[in-house]
Amino acid sequence: MKHKIVLIPGDGIGPEIVGEAKKVLDHVCQKYGHEFQYEEVLLGGASIDVHGVPLTDEAMATAKSADAVLMGSIGGDAATSPWYRLEPSKRPEAGLLRIRKGLNLFANLRPAYLYSQLKDACPLRPDIIGEGFDMLIMRELTGGLYFGERKTYEENGIRAAMDTLVYNEEEIRRIAVKGFQIARKRRNKVTSVDKANVLDSSRLWRKVVEEVAADYPDVELEHMLVDNCAMQLVRDPGQFDVILTENMFGDILSDEASMVTGSIGMLSSASLNETRFGLYEPSHGSAPDIAGQDKANPIATILSAAMMLRYSLDLDAEADAVEQAVEKVLEEGYRTGDIMSDGCTCVGTREMGDLIAKAIWGGGSH
Ligand code: NAD
Repeated sequence: MKHKIVLIPGDGIGPEIVGEAKKVLDHVCQKYGHEFQYEEVLLGGASIDVHGVPLTDEAMATAKSADAVLMGSIGGDAATSPWYRLEPSKRPEAGLLRIRKGLNLFANLRPAYLYSQLKDACPLRPDIIGEGFDMLIMRELTGGLYFGERKTYEENGIRAAMDTLVYNEEEIRRIAVKGFQIARKRRNKVTSVDKANVLDSSRLWRKVVEEVAADYPDVELEHMLVDNCAMQLVRDPGQFDVILTENMFGDILSDEASMVTGSIGMLSSASLNETRFGLYEPSHGSAPDIAGQDKANPIATILSAAMMLRYSLDLDAEADAVEQAVEKVLEEGYRTGDIMSDGCTCVGTREMGDLIAKAIWGGGSH
């Protein structure tokens, strides 16, 4: 199958980790007979250096024309980089916000999966970890408290501030549909998280999610209050498959869920819009402290590429192959510095990419 993929290497370790993800995708194409056409665009500091702005209109148009975008990360060291002497609207992060908005990305997906080989990095007790966990936090990105009307004011000499949490049924329906569709690609369970015992917006959320659930009788739906969910994530994380929730609850819960997996170098993410299109990127930043030193862990980006195969290109077997290749290389004891432990073999960014690419073929990474 032919697909057009835009690559955004970005700044810091971005070019190194995107290079390794592309290497793995090249092997997937060879093995499964696909053709991916790549186009690279500049974003963030890399774009400032060449064009004077963090995102050009041409780069935006190129991203829009693709089936999916695979990104590294952007930004530099705020204390030393000249990019941060520019006004805020010209800094690297402004380009990231603009591209996310321009692509209408409203659903953010962050998997939290515990690799048995990395169990020692998990801060939870072994009896809580049990057989491990594999969940996906699906967070609404464009509505709720972060986008509602707000003001700070004074009344009778007393300072006050107000934020509003607004959702309409269309915003809830479109993310609920995504949640149920994605649960069908996983273990057919959605936990919808709200605060329906207190908030009107949550009561509407719950009603609309139930309406959508009627179209997915094969997917189990449960509702959970956000305070309980925060507790359950550290009490029994194995109970979750897809956690579907609004913007602020998702912001908090996704950080909590990713922390219980251990390493930042392993965490992938996706942001989707109403079509199959998505932007895929690691959850970590551009790590300027280790850039260009062959030290970065490319696995979060490689796993983001696997999400791209699954959610934008509908290539489930190929996505499974990438995830299994990562698992196999970890099983064989290879680690980058950030996830290194006793008795393992420490490898650099490029060697980790080579090992995973080789393991795609299933014959072992030796
Ligand atoms: P960071 O995630 O870049 O780094 C935090 C620590 O984790 C560092 O010690 C770094 O070396 C390490 N680390 C991160 N990714 C790693 C990997 N793949 N392998 C090994 N070690 C890794 O966070 P930061 O230092 O706060 O931010 C650096 C820059 O990244 C800033 O400019 C920030 O704005 C930007 N940032 C960008 C994104 C994005 O592009 N979406 C996200 C977060 C931060």
